[in-house]
Amino acid sequence: MNFDLSPEQLALQEKAREVGLQWRGQYEKWDAEDESPYKDIVVTLRDAGLLGLTIPKQYGGKGGTALDYAIVVEQLVRNSRSWILGEGPFSTTGPGPSMILLSNEERTRQKYLPPIVNGDIGCAIALTEPDHGSDLTDLETTAVVDGDHFIVNGHKRFITGSPHNELYAVFARFDDIPGARGVGCILVEAGTPGCELLRGVEWLGCRGMPHGEVILTDCRVPKENVVRGAGHFRELMTGFNMERLHNSIFSLSLAGIAYDEAVAYVEKRQCFGKDVIQYQSVYHDIVDMYLAIEAQRLLTWRAASTADQGVFPKVLDASLSKLFGSQMAPQVTLTGVKLHGGDGVTMDFPVQTAMRDAVSAMVAGGAPAVLKNAIAAQLFPHRRFPQ
Ligand SMILES: Cc1cc2nc3c(=O)[nH]c(=O)nc-3n(C[C@H](O)[C@H](O)[C@H](O)COP(=O)(O)OP(=O)(O)OC[C@H]3O[C@@H](n4cnc5c(N)ncnc54)[C@H](O)[C@@H]3O)c2cc1C
Repeated sequence: MNFDLSPEQLALQEKAREVGLQWRGQYEKWDAEDESPYKDIVVTLRDAGLLGLTIPKQYGGKGGTALDYAIVVEQLVRNSRSWILGEGPFSTTGPGPSMILLSNEERTRQKYLPPIVNGDIGCAIALTEPDHGSDLTDLETTAVVDGDHFIVNGHKRFITGSPHNELYAVFARFDDIPGARGVGCILVEAGTPGCELLRGVEWLGCRGMPHGEVILTDCRVPKENVVRGAGHFRELMTGFNMERLHNSIFSLSLAGIAYDEAVAYVEKRQCFGKDVIQYQSVYHDIVDMYLAIEAQRLLTWRAASTADQGVFPKVLDASLSKLFGSQMAPQVTLTGVKLHGGDGVTMDFPVQTAMRDAVSAMVAGGAPAVLKNAIAAQLFPHRRFPQ
């Protein structure tokens, strides 16, 4: 077992750190206005060679691994102090592009992956519906065959990157078979008649880019856009594990932001004539934060390093890492806020955005209880646990 990064990975890490720093100091504005120059950020990331990290070279990607992705996203988010820097790699390597990689149709991969890895189009993933989030296997969106097309009807919400993204990997019911066996995935282009993209409701955190709605009304989509039809839910979930990995990295980065900000604060702030960091309860808090972050990094890097074909994280490792992160990041960021005293709850210090983002991201990619269900199912494959 080797915990050292290769020279190439160290170079990627340094490049991502530099790009992250380049965008530092902007998130307060993006958070307040709930808007960001996302497309400009994507151009910076493309020019730095940080898009399409896990996509094979034959499609214009970097042909790298999920670990490359983890290293890059952590540095981008932690150094920019903004989750949005991670969204460029996400929409060009994350679960949406992973779904496209899973497509049976070579011409579909050829059509969509090159513009995606070039940052010309972004691919979001659309599973959640107003009445179905955790119970994805009950989703109501339908895809019904009609000659060379499928007619898609349904309503998706909380879709990160809608309405900005140009492509949506939409999970739909392809068959009347109830449960997971009827569910498949189809790629829907923004601009297709019958595909309406809305901004959706305002969020507590993870602001600056909408998590919007995708409303599909008799939307005709060519058959070759089907990634997988009914009966392949398990394979589709291997693509979705990239989402879980992304959220693990996200928790790691947000906790990292809180740590960096808290350390900077308590080293400068004085109380009772001493630097605050000199109080034992304070440096113990800092050590606890550091410990949680390092544990999260180990889980995240393990989930990335054990990925099938280097790019599809395994369900157990990705779920463990995401679960730990969802529980750790809200706590660590809250400790960071506490260590800032009253300053922590003003809008002047980045630690509060990290806390709001960590709380907001807790259920993204699966609520903790649902991840525990997935982990238990892996640990006890001979049993069936009722949901
Ligand atoms: C930051 C963020 C980004 C997101 N981005 C996307 C995206 O890009 N695409 C997308 O499709 N979705 C996205 N989502 C939606 C997300 O996947 C869902 O919010 C999540 O799956 C939970 O679904 P829900 O909100 O409907 O909650 P529900 O499923 O209604 O859950 C409500 C509560 O019930 C509990 N619960 C549910 N089932 C069980 C069970 N079996 N056992 C125990 N407890 C249970 C949950 O823990 C939760 O506390 C995003 C969400 C967030 C917060």
